Amino acid sequence: MKEFTCIVCPRGCRLKIDDELNVTGNSCPRGAEYAKNEVTNPKRMITSLMRVKNRENCVVSVKTSNAIPKGMIFQVMEEINKTGVNAPTNIGDVAISNVLNTGVDIIITKNIK
Ligand code: SF4
Repeated sequence: MKEFTCIVCPRGCRLKIDDELNVTGNSCPRGAEYAKNEVTNPKRMITSLMRVKNRENCVVSVKTSNAIPKGMIFQVMEEINKTGVNAPTNIGDVAISNVLNTGVDIIITKNIK
């Protein structure tokens, strides 16, 4: 039996999951799905900053378009850190497509003129 807090929404239900992947403590189906993923293939969203190459001392906020495997967080961060974008940027622009073949894009979350 494993126990952890659901991080899908601010309610923060305390989840329990047994070896047969039976989940208790969840107030909605998303918690059960989260618990099963957490023990079989844990994933996380990433938010970070990316260098703006054509502006001095400027960065733009970015995030993953979907959750990535937890074990790839540092590799994806390296890709974000070594990649830059040029201004202007628009919210929703793709900064890196299909980062490290995860099927997930790195998306810009700030407008810079
Ligand atoms: S189980 Fe459902 S209600 Fe509870 S924290 Fe997770 S998403 Fe929110």
